[in-house]
Amino acid sequence: MIEFPAPSTGDPVRISATLLATYERCPGEAEGRLRGIYGEDSVASFTGVLLHRIIRRHLEEGPIEPGTIPHVCRVEIGQGKLSAKMNAVGLGASSRLQPVFASIAEKYERFQRYPQAGFHSAEQLIEVEAAEGVTLVGKIDAVFEGDGGLRLVDWKSGDLGSPRTQLGFYALLWTLHTGTMPTEIEVVSLGTGERHAEPVTETWMASVATAVSDLASVIRRFLRTRVPLPLSAGPWCGYCPLIDECNEGQAALALLDGVAGGREESEHEGVDHRSVRVHRNGTD
Ligand code: SF4
Repeated sequence: MIEFPAPSTGDPVRISATLLATYERCPGEAEGRLRGIYGEDSVASFTGVLLHRIIRRHLEEGPIEPGTIPHVCRVEIGQGKLSAKMNAVGLGASSRLQPVFASIAEKYERFQRYPQAGFHSAEQLIEVEAAEGVTLVGKIDAVFEGDGGLRLVDWKSGDLGSPRTQLGFYALLWTLHTGTMPTEIEVVSLGTGERHAEPVTETWMASVATAVSDLASVIRRFLRTRVPLPLSAGPWCGYCPLIDECNEGQAALALLDGVAGGREESEHEGVDHRSVRVHRNGTD
């Protein structure tokens, strides 16, 4: 069984895969989430939520006739109380929903080609107290059972990006919740067809547990001291909800766009500007 290293004591904290991945990318952006600053809903995020409901329906109730996808989507929007989210992203008009339904139908068709033997469960919402006052939360999209053991699957509707941190978190969540390690965890993009699988090992789980425990200590220290967390700027700043208030992020984007002063450009000739990073609070 995996030992969860004891973090420093302090306030109750809740940690998700998104918070951990955000912290690894830029601690300052993760601090924004702790302060309640999240990215706004978008058509893409709405589509992703709806797609997950369609897949769960398929796994639990059986295949959906392709021609009925728009109707089933509307049912899921109602049952999932997604109307507010739908209206917030400007999809209130029926005509605007048609491209979303078409996109979901396409991704659902791709999903049906994914091997589904051994289906065990879908959309399991898990909360587990890994240490006193440290709650890990997340949803396991699907679990499949085979001769070799359990395989966890995470569905994405867009690019995979760098999924290893999130996969590690989900595998740890499952392990701490059930007391049993899955043998494999996989992420599948129904938008691009990309797949990425990782064998789950004790060594990996121990390192993820350490990373999560360390993050719990960092959060508790922030809650106690309110000292800002370091910034790590780069191309991802373009998607950060803090960009309007973050000079470092704006500087990084300006550099990437080639609008920084000529001195920097001449001094750093040949540098890959796509990997430029700006740090605050000495965390290089
Ligand atoms: S804009 Fe960039 S540097 Fe600033 S908080 Fe966001 S991700 Fe971090």
